[in-house]
Order: sequence, then C-alpha cells, then structure tokens
Amino acid sequence: MPMIKVKSAEEIELMRESALIVSKTLGEIAKVIQPGVTSLDLDKLAEEHIRDHGAEPGFLGLYGFPNTLCISPNAQVVHGIPNNDPYKEGDIVSVDCGALKNGFYGDHAYTFEVGEVAPEIKKMLRITKESLYAGIAEFKIGNRVGDVAYAIQQYCEKEGYGVVRELVGHGIGKKMHESPEMPNYGKRGRGKKFVEGMVVAIEPMINLGTRRIKQLRDGWTILTADGEVSAHFEHDVALIDGKPELLSTFEYVYQALGIRSEEELPFRKKPLVL
Ligand code: MG
Ligand code: MG
Repeated sequence: MPMIKVKSAEEIELMRESALIVSKTLGEIAKVIQPGVTSLDLDKLAEEHIRDHGAEPGFLGLYGFPNTLCISPNAQVVHGIPNNDPYKEGDIVSVDCGALKNGFYGDHAYTFEVGEVAPEIKKMLRITKESLYAGIAEFKIGNRVGDVAYAIQQYCEKEGYGVVRELVGHGIGKKMHESPEMPNYGKRGRGKKFVEGMVVAIEPMINLGTRRIKQLRDGWTILTADGEVSAHFEHDVALIDGKPELLSTFEYVYQALGIRSEEELPFRKKPLVL
C-alpha cells in the first residue's frame, strides 16, 4: 500500500507558494468570468498567469490532459476540457487549476457563478463550499480519512444532494496525486490515520440531483447522469501542530467579486497578506 509522504516545514512553505499561485489564478478568472467568455479564454489567461509566476501548469500533459484548466460548466462535474462555447447568464462553472513550482504541486478549485444564478443552485454552491470546511475541520491529529469523508457526506446529503463517489480528494506533494485517497463519503473512525506534516487536497464534488455520473466519449469529461448541475470546491490543507492549516485561499476570488468572508480564519495560523 502506498505510504503517506509527510512534508517538512520547509516543504510545506514551498507547497503554500504553489497553492497560492493557483489561488491567484482563480482570482484572475473571477475578474473576467461573465456571459460571452469561453473556457478557452480562461485557459489561456490561466496558463499565462501561472507561467508569469515562474510555475508550470500542473494539469497540462498530466495523464495526457490537453489543457491548463479543467473547466466543468453546469452538469459537468469535473475534468471538462476547455472549448469555445460562450458562457450564458445563470451558468455555473467549476474551474480546477494546478500549478507546479519548486517540485511541488498546488491543486485548487472554485465553482463560479455567471451573472445571476437560480436560488436553488446558489444554495447548492453554498452548501458544497460549507461542506469543504466541515471536512477540513476534521483533518486533525486523532482523526482518520473517514472522519473528513463522513463530515462532507452528512453535510450535503442532509440537503438531499448527491455526493459523487467515483472521484475523490488525495494527498498532494511532489506528485499531484499521492496517498491517501480522500473520499467525500465514508464512516467515522475508518481509514488511514492522519499524521503531522501530511498535505491533502480536499474536494467535495456535489450534485443537485443523483450522485450518479457518466463520462463523455472524450475520455475526460465527467457529468451528472441526470443532467442536473454539479459543484466542486477544493483546498490544499497541511496538518501542522495537530491542526488543519490552509495552503490555498479563496480570498483572491472574493476580493475580485467584492465578497467578505471569515470562513478561512479558523484554518490559518497567520493572517493572510494578499
Ligand atoms: Mg483539483
Ligand atoms: Mg485534486
């Protein structure tokens, strides 16, 4: 069974740098996303922004993926390939971005609203993001993978949403995907024990309707089986002094969108300087 690769304090600071490049890239996307924009526009912007920060796109070429961003609008769950279709008012767009710098990966995702989005979809986005923090809160010494998984699953299923099972979060470091797998469903007290210095990407993928998914013939795009919309939020989190410490941040997105939020404060030892 693959081992969990724990990181030194120095390595975690390098990982923070990679994660923050991704966070800033999502912030740039927040500034421009609106009706008429295409996912290829965002992909180009993201690649330039990542390279301008001395990093490489983390997904480009990974397992053969053709682009910088995985962009998954509406009924697409994850792994959507950027194309030339313009966004419409009311769309939601999940943008997953990776960066590689100093030999370490960052991997971080946000689901954006295009113009005015229907209230029931807005609520699903809020619940999905809240479930991410409910999961992060359980990433601490004394807990196991199942504690994070259970927290996310309960938070979303009590609202009647479908929790995708086939795709999971993961350890992250010198490889994009390291041990352990971090599912968004599971049982308390089960699975691998958390250890000081581990770093994981926690990423609920939540559907408005059924949890069931299907894959497009492009070999990448995952979409909901019932055609209802899906949300995806992801943070990179380190286990430091027994507690979860966020390496990525949505604050660049919030700054661009004029949102004030204190959601990250419990998971940050030092205040973030943007
Ligand atoms: Mg990701
Ligand atoms: Mg990931």
